[in-house]
Amino acid sequence: MSFATDPNGWVEQVAGGAQRVFLRTSQGREISYAALREQSHRIACALMRRGVVPGERVAVQVDKSVEAVLLYIACLRLGAVFVPINVANTPNEVEYFLRDSRPRVAVIRPQDRHVLEPLAIEAGVALETLGENGDGSLCELAAECADDSALPTVFDADALAAIVYTSGTTGRPKGAMLTRANLASNAVALAETWRFTRDDVLLHTLPLFHIHGLFAAINTVLASGSSLFLLPKFDAAQTLAHLREATVYMGVPTHYTRLLQQAELNPQTTATVRLFVSGSAPLLPDTHREFLSRTGHVILERYGMSETLINTSNPYEGPRLPGSVGPPLKGTAIRVVNAETGAVELEPGVVGTLQVKGPNVFVGYWRDEAKTHGEFSADGWFKTGDVGRIDAAGYVHIVGRAKDLVISGGYNVYPKEVETELDALAGVQESAVFGVPHPDFGEGVTAAVVPKPGAVLSEQAIIDSVKARLARYKVPKRIVLVEELPRNTMGKVQKNTLRQMFAAIYADG
Ligand code: AMP
Repeated sequence: MSFATDPNGWVEQVAGGAQRVFLRTSQGREISYAALREQSHRIACALMRRGVVPGERVAVQVDKSVEAVLLYIACLRLGAVFVPINVANTPNEVEYFLRDSRPRVAVIRPQDRHVLEPLAIEAGVALETLGENGDGSLCELAAECADDSALPTVFDADALAAIVYTSGTTGRPKGAMLTRANLASNAVALAETWRFTRDDVLLHTLPLFHIHGLFAAINTVLASGSSLFLLPKFDAAQTLAHLREATVYMGVPTHYTRLLQQAELNPQTTATVRLFVSGSAPLLPDTHREFLSRTGHVILERYGMSETLINTSNPYEGPRLPGSVGPPLKGTAIRVVNAETGAVELEPGVVGTLQVKGPNVFVGYWRDEAKTHGEFSADGWFKTGDVGRIDAAGYVHIVGRAKDLVISGGYNVYPKEVETELDALAGVQESAVFGVPHPDFGEGVTAAVVPKPGAVLSEQAIIDSVKARLARYKVPKRIVLVEELPRNTMGKVQKNTLRQMFAAIYADG
């Protein structure tokens, strides 16, 4: 099967099979590819009426809905630059995104209008509203738009398609600029790697403000002419109930741990699904194994980030290794670099910082050349900020974020290594290792540990158990037992929050 190489072609390519379903919802709504074409065109026209021309930004902070999906596709068709904003962002943060991205139009939730309007006026941004049921001014305007307004038909592959804000180690979030070629090449690579066909139905429970739900999910469906079953959010029982309507599921690790808590998760309730994908945060090998034993499905883990879309994937055919994110996608290259010397590590298995090159890699940070310059090597590789290794078979293993490295008494401690030992202890469900200021060691290795239901754990017993297995400097100086780890919506453990919560743990000596 061949896939269109520009996002515009994704919608145009289906003219022949236009009655095929593009999207279904649990409320019984159905949008064919023909309707997608027509309705996204109307929304694009509405944006044009508000003065949006190709290259201009459209900032979007709305609840997940069918219309929100259509709005994203309308921006692609118009050549506008889509700027997704997390619904959890506060007005203060939204103000920063508006000032920084300078959109022509911002589409927001109707209920946020009274708060955001003064900010938008200040920033010179026109506002439209879009509610979770498709209500609001945007769709009213779209309904008035004639379907015959001309949309661009020829696009420059290097034109910007999206700016995705990502929090760096320091300072304000930076806008990663992604081109049409970035989106298209990645969608085609994923559709091929994961063997998407027009018969596939992807159960979509992810948010629409992150690369996972937006690009990895929707673009792969569009590129392959398959279809989406859209749920407004992840809910384990709802997801399980609708899995029988799907052939593919994409989730974050937390989705899988929550699905495992459902008594009905078994080979029968997952029988229609041919592929379960996990990403955005590390999937515990235990979760991988438990899911296999409960359902017979081997979860396929992949690795990506806002700046690069998806970089690696375990193979569709061939071993999907628990704890590994697999080899680079076709056309993408990854190398390991020594963090201190900058030398490229050629020996397999050596841990260092990961750098990536390929058609998926973004073109820089919006209005921040200095930051862009600093994040690319002299020979054009993007410095991911992730620490990892590549094994002899070419599989990438992520050890953690460079910024999460703990330096204790002058020694580098990779949290993942310590977490692996902690997670292997009986009674431990999961753990997170982080560094906080320590009067003697600079930073003290500290662990938050979540006990398995019913397990009784003690700090000292855990420390004693790992002492036998880890060099002394790696052994956590304190263990805190917690009910759950702080996570964001994408399931990423928030080590910043842990560092703040336990900042003073060594303060009294
Ligand atoms: P974001 O830009 O918010 O998507 O975050 C990207 C970061 O998430 C990456 O740099 C990794 O640190 C992490 N990440 C994504 N996928 C995985 C994975 N499968 N395993 C471990 N970390 C991951």
